[in-house]
Amino acid sequence: MNPRPFSLIVHGGAWDIPDSAVADCRAGIRCALEAGRDVLAKNGSALDAVQAAVAVLEDDITFDAGTGSHLNRDGRVQLDAIIMDGTTLKTGAVAAVERIRNPIHLARKILDSSAHIMLAAAGAELFAQENGIPLCSPEDLIIERERAAWRRCREGKHNSHFHFGDKHGTVGAAALDSSGRLAAATSTGGTCCKFPGRVGDSPLIGCGCYADAEAGAVSCTGHGEAIMKIVMAKSAADLLRNGADPSSAAAESIQLLARRTQSTAGLILLDRHGVPAASFNTPRMAYGFLQPDGSFLITV
Ligand code: ASP
Repeated sequence: MNPRPFSLIVHGGAWDIPDSAVADCRAGIRCALEAGRDVLAKNGSALDAVQAAVAVLEDDITFDAGTGSHLNRDGRVQLDAIIMDGTTLKTGAVAAVERIRNPIHLARKILDSSAHIMLAAAGAELFAQENGIPLCSPEDLIIERERAAWRRCREGKHNSHFHFGDKHGTVGAAALDSSGRLAAATSTGGTCCKFPGRVGDSPLIGCGCYADAEAGAVSCTGHGEAIMKIVMAKSAADLLRNGADPSSAAAESIQLLARRTQSTAGLILLDRHGVPAASFNTPRMAYGFLQPDGSFLITV
């Protein structure tokens, strides 16, 4: 059993993090852990905690989510996000939004107030307007570093090496609150120079995120087209459901992805008691979790 009153794990993507970005990754993970921990310490819900943690990472340009995300082939930022409640299985997700500064807040609004699970593009932005979430300008999400990388790709042939750390990282979180509720969330700008309208694993239930109080809570990152093929978050949750320990469930999921798709990814998870684990087959992954003594363990 978990001796913790609550648990939290967050990630900033599994990618080829350059040494020069390690400090920024660590700082971002720490801020996200603080935001989620503050919610949980006040007996807030796991849903509120993962939402708060992911929003911090969306606002941090170190990561490929919210502001500072990769541009698509047409030079636009298109964002995807999902949040899932492990107690009720209620889920909210958005895909390909261009005028939402924090897609995780819109995903949460969909979870709370919509009959649907996922809204995309213009429809998602209409829902935002009708539900009090302000629209930003598409330009507000674009930073010069990403525009310069996109220009280099356009001048020649797309090359991930033109991008910060090849391609910087999706973000996510999983939490268990003091009432025993589990939640998970994931947010991303997707892959660099992606075809307009491309949606990856991140906002798809069971692929980039899954939470079930009977199993665990999972957030994934990596090559979306591969993660979708093995429905990775649900695969990991099912391993937990069938009794695997958290570290084995995480490692086996990445092994499955590598064996069946020859691709790369990472994931974080909590089992239903809040015990954390992470696994990845990329050069590095940025993640951190709350330890039973209240300190943070951050790994980049
Ligand atoms: N999984 C994300 C996607 O394919 C990208 C990433 O995690 O790096 O959109």
